[in-house]
Amino acid sequence: MDRQQEFVLRTVEERDIRFIRLWFTDVLGMLKSVAIAPAELESAFSEGIGFDGSAIEGLTRVYEADMIARPDPTTFQVLPWRGEHHGTARMFCDILTPDGEPSLADSRNVLKRALAKASDQGFTFYTHPEVEFYLFEPPTADGPLVPIDHGGYFDHVARTQGHDFRRAAITMLESMGISVEFSHHEAGPGQNEIDLRYADALTTADNLMTFRTVIKEVALEQGVFASFMPKPLADQPGSGMHTHLSLFEGDRNAFHEPGAQYELSKTARHFIAGLLVHAAEITAVTNQHVNSYKRLWGGAEAPSYVCWGHNNRSALVRVPMYKPGKGNSSRVEYRALDTAANPYLAFALTLAAGLKGIEEGYELPEATDDDVWELTDAERRALGIKPLPQTLDDAISLMEKSELVAETLGEHVFDFVLKNKRQEWQGYSQQVTPFELKRLLQVL
Ligand code: GLN
Ligand code: MG
Ligand code: MG
Ligand code: MG
Repeated sequence: MDRQQEFVLRTVEERDIRFIRLWFTDVLGMLKSVAIAPAELESAFSEGIGFDGSAIEGLTRVYEADMIARPDPTTFQVLPWRGEHHGTARMFCDILTPDGEPSLADSRNVLKRALAKASDQGFTFYTHPEVEFYLFEPPTADGPLVPIDHGGYFDHVARTQGHDFRRAAITMLESMGISVEFSHHEAGPGQNEIDLRYADALTTADNLMTFRTVIKEVALEQGVFASFMPKPLADQPGSGMHTHLSLFEGDRNAFHEPGAQYELSKTARHFIAGLLVHAAEITAVTNQHVNSYKRLWGGAEAPSYVCWGHNNRSALVRVPMYKPGKGNSSRVEYRALDTAANPYLAFALTLAAGLKGIEEGYELPEATDDDVWELTDAERRALGIKPLPQTLDDAISLMEKSELVAETLGEHVFDFVLKNKRQEWQGYSQQVTPFELKRLLQVL
């Protein structure tokens, strides 16, 4: 047993932990959990815990239904919302096949593979997500969604639950070792944003899975309802997850070059070019729901067009303001992502797109300073600015042809995502919507 595993066993004993939840993520990004007793821990570390993978979306083909979850001891945390007495802790797991190989359907492993590829080229990949979400009054069966306040961007809203909520959520996140950098009211009523401090991408992906759970728990405690749905209200801004990306070579930020335009190194320029070239084909994963496209095409600072710019909030990739003397903070912000994505798969694909740009030496086009939403189609065409997919259906067609996505996700996950997303699109297309009834029923 290694030192991390011993630490877990000791902590479980000292803190009187009675349940250890083993967490993992299905292909669609939903958190799964199975609880074990402390007595099972040693064998969980050595052999893993067997479970029936066929119960879980995308995890297994029928003929390999027996799967094994092996906990990663470095992710051990006590769950604060379960109380101190007879407590509960959790660890993230790697999913293995019965013969001990990484499961092809484990999205955490998809990200690990992508990170290993970056590491072969000398890079560590860091991410820093800005997570937006809405807080509503607890919804009734078919009543309208009622946001908890009427605040706007950065508003200090007096006498509402928003402040208490953010304080409670951040305290809980910090107590689980998840550092928060900023938090504020977002533009929509009841909309909030919490930004996690940058960390290596596997840690941030794990942290995001925890984050969603913490937000839901705190909401329950406070009698409100939290949702990460990308566009819950048609006439208000959607909730995105702009994510800041950077590559390090050892201690050095590989995106930083003093004296260059926006202090961006060649590596950073090729990385951005890779993101732009492959953005459309990775969108079915970074924005995986029918609803995601209502955010992307609903204005309110969500990106719709593939271009990059310095401080340009209409661009898909933004290079944030450079802080003099802080070269290590050089990074690029990818603005398409939403929080309903599977963070392991989404980070693996943004990394793969950027690395491809570096490997192939893609040329970075000129930065765009214009507000690209204000340009005409002809103007955008003249500038070579293409749209992101307009619907999930468009996104699936583009992903289907993508070698980069197939290679990065692996055949099993690639096929599963395509199949699942086609089903979602088909189910949606068959709906007769209130919009159609309102426009047509009376006049026809
Ligand atoms: N809510 C916007 C989006 O969906 C972002 C707003 C902002 O942070 N500037 O991307
Ligand atoms: Mg922000
Ligand atoms: Mg924001
Ligand atoms: Mg942002």
